[in-house]
Parts: sequence; C-alpha cells; structure tokens
Amino acid sequence: MTNDSDEVRKMRQEASAVRRLLATRKEEALVLRSQVEGLTSTYAEVEAGKDVDSRRLSGYGVVLAEPASPLDRLVAKSKIGGMIAERAEALRRADAEVMRLGTALGQLSTCPNCNGAGTKRRSEYERDDSRIQARQVVDDCSLCKGNGTIDLD
Ligand SMILES: [Zn+2]
Repeated sequence: MTNDSDEVRKMRQEASAVRRLLATRKEEALVLRSQVEGLTSTYAEVEAGKDVDSRRLSGYGVVLAEPASPLDRLVAKSKIGGMIAERAEALRRADAEVMRLGTALGQLSTCPNCNGAGTKRRSEYERDDSRIQARQVVDDCSLCKGNGTIDLD
C-alpha cells in the first residue's frame, strides 16, 4: 500500500465522521424548526383568544383552564414564548454548526498534495553545451490526478 492511498483512506474516514455529525445536526435543526413553527402558531392562537387543542398544549407542558381567563392566557403565552426563544436559539446554533461542518467537509476534500491546484511544478535541469539550464515543468498532481480535490465518497 502506498502512502498516497493511506492518506486518502484517512481523509475518507474523517470525511465520513464529519458527514455523520452533519446529518445529526441537520436532523436536529429540522426538528427544532418544526417545533418553533408549531409553538409560534400556538402562541398566536392563545393570543387571539382562540380555543387551543388542550392535547397540543399539554404536549408543551402548558395547561389552559376552560374557560381561560385573560391571566391564564397571559401565563400560557409567557411559557410558550419562553419555549420559542429557547428553541430558536438552539436552532440558530444547529444551523451555524451545519454551515461550519459543510465548510469543513469541502476543505477536507481539497487535495493536500497540491492544495487544490491540481498541478505540481518541478524544475528539470538540462545540460546545454557547457551550461546547465533549468526549466519549469508542470505535472498533474499524482494524488488527485489533476482534479484538485479527492473523491471522499
Ligand atoms: Zn492534488
């Protein structure tokens, strides 16, 4: 086994770990987004003085007496508002993490041998009469075969 394939194998392992984490964060963000939406519409219903499904409310740990007094609604709104703020903050963090992991995944696939250029320069020396002449030769990178990126799938 060559050093190159060892390196690529390590990169694939790392990429697959990042991908798993990314999938988890995306799933969390999805759940949080739907919770924020559900809570926001419930909040609006309570605020508008509508009868809110008591099972949905108890799912949020909120009990609203029937008939609900203005104070009952105020307390329910305050509790739901707190949950919205808490989940919106968790959602913001999860979204930022999804962005960060996506960027990291892109950086991981950049070829470490040519830094994404796809080519490597080298000098070739030729003897011409009594002088030695150097010339620059550009080769396709041996690790990424000129792609600049490593296929980590
Ligand atoms: Zn390369």
